[in-house]
Order: sequence, then C-alpha cells, then structure tokens
Amino acid sequence: MSQTPIRPEFQVHMLNDSGKTQATQIAEVLSEALNKLEALVGPGRELVIVKTKLEEACFFAKRGMASKPDNQQRQNSCEHCDGDAPAGKRFCSDACRIADLPSA
Ligand SMILES: [Zn+2]
Repeated sequence: MSQTPIRPEFQVHMLNDSGKTQATQIAEVLSEALNKLEALVGPGRELVIVKTKLEEACFFAKRGMASKPDNQQRQNSCEHCDGDAPAGKRFCSDACRIADLPSA
C-alpha cells in the first residue's frame, strides 16, 4: 500500500464517548428538522434537495465536532519510545515494533 501522507481535509478521527454522544445529538437534531420539513414541504424534487442538503449539513456538523480534540479518542503511548501510538496499537511505528522484539 502506498504511504501518501493524509491531508487535514481527509483526516480520520476516532471518537471518544463524548464524541459519540454528540454525533447522536447532531443526528437527532437533523432528524427532527427533516421530520418537520417533510410534513411542511411534501413530496417532490424540493424535498429531495432538502434531504440532500441536510445530509451535507450532518456531514459537516459531525466533521466539525470530530475535529475537536476533546471529542477524539486519546492515543496510546508507544511501548518503545515516548511517541503516540494509534488507538489500539502498541507501537508508534514498525521501527519501534521491530526494535522492541526480543533478540534471539
Ligand atoms: Zn515508538
């Protein structure tokens, strides 16, 4: 697999419990808005556009929320150096993983 650096526009953030709760709240707010708008607007092309725009709103609202460090899962410390290891990983890099192997 290629090792293209991930640009900030496409960065993936793992949510912590607070982030997951807020993601649900965003979904609830937009569900309530869509429920009301469906009843007010009625079926047709305009309602389809309303749904699409609310889906966009949901994406950007969640992305904005997920970009706050307070809502992100904390990273682990690398077991070999003082670096940050990705959530669920013991080492920050393959180099640290290999360096940590017991010598035979
Ligand atoms: Zn390391």
